Amino acid sequence: MSDGRNEKPATLVRRAALREGVSRPVATPIQPSVVYASPSIQTLHAQYEGGAYGYTYAREGHPNAELLARKIDAMEGAEGGLVLGSGMAAVSATILGLLGQGDHILGGNQLYGRSLRLMHQDLARFGIETSVADPTDVEAMRAALTPKTKMILVEVISNPTLRVADMEGIVALAKEAGVILAVDNTFTTPLGYKPLDAGADITIHSVTKLLAGHSDVTLGYVAAQDPDNMRAIYDFAVTVGMTPAPQECWLAERGLYTFPLRLEKAQENATALADWLAEHPKVARVLYPGRADHPDHSRAAALTGGVYGNMVSFELIDPTEAAADRMIQAAPDLPFAPTLGDVGTTLSHPASSSHRGLTSEGRAALGISDGFFRVSVGIEPIELLIADFETGLAAV
Ligand SMILES: *Cc1c(COP(=O)(O)O)cnc(C)c1O
Repeated sequence: MSDGRNEKPATLVRRAALREGVSRPVATPIQPSVVYASPSIQTLHAQYEGGAYGYTYAREGHPNAELLARKIDAMEGAEGGLVLGSGMAAVSATILGLLGQGDHILGGNQLYGRSLRLMHQDLARFGIETSVADPTDVEAMRAALTPKTKMILVEVISNPTLRVADMEGIVALAKEAGVILAVDNTFTTPLGYKPLDAGADITIHSVTKLLAGHSDVTLGYVAAQDPDNMRAIYDFAVTVGMTPAPQECWLAERGLYTFPLRLEKAQENATALADWLAEHPKVARVLYPGRADHPDHSRAAALTGGVYGNMVSFELIDPTEAAADRMIQAAPDLPFAPTLGDVGTTLSHPASSSHRGLTSEGRAALGISDGFFRVSVGIEPIELLIADFETGLAAV
């Protein structure tokens, strides 16, 4: 071997490599490679045909996405789930991978705002019919089925009024009607509800929220019970390029290790904060599924086994935007940010964000006034949180 003195720099750079060690990294390595080299054409054939295991091209799959998917699978009781570039990618791939022209989809009437937009504005362009019904009322769901209905899409806990869907009724209805039941499990998380175990066909997550938990990645996840459905969702997602980035998958994986601890602490805080808000003279009402005065408390208890989550909503006695704005401005340590599931508590004002597209009558019908707040409770010391809310409410 030459000592390299007479070699070209490019040759030297190409040849230089790390030594193989006998130890292994404890943290997952980030694997940014977009392409993978196969040793032969025969091997590549085997990779495509399933006889050999290996990656080819990152849009089709890469180790960080796959590892994250296996870990979420384990929590969801799923097999072969897929991680995608966002929660909306997961919702979109589920619907567009499985439905076609002439099919009908029935959604919950309080789905995530972009899911509703997809249904009402985009699916129609592809000849997919849409309607929505109240998922707390299984008879309303039944009445909205048509002979063309191929899928029902619901969330277990609605945003922002935190109503709890009649999941037992809807699972039975979907089976009876022979339609695919897809559940967006973002709010409930696999610790509160496991859609596939409960009899649903598909489970969906915005990993962006509680699972990753730090407001620094945008990712989604979907798993289907039926491998043919999973294949169709996978093929659609890969074709349209809903690829997750390796670095983001790595961050989400890191988040998962603390997810159960974070949820436990956040729920403890949510319970204490909801009880404190309920006694506060500036607060007209509090919605938290863990409280006995919540309209769906017993259903939430039965469905989630007491994992009521970290989301609390409340309404000011002065239900005006001016009062809400004074509270926001008086409490700058509570970020006014339209997301949920972060380690820190965030405040959302649905009338000016997620539900701004509705008329004020439409919002009123859902019980959302201009003084309505949704709180994603984080893991801060509870005294800090209560002090922040005390300061904010004093300005109302
Ligand atoms: C945030 C959210 C989504 C969309 O997820 P993104 O990761 O933001 O695309 C879908 N469903 C629910 C219930 C959500 O909260």
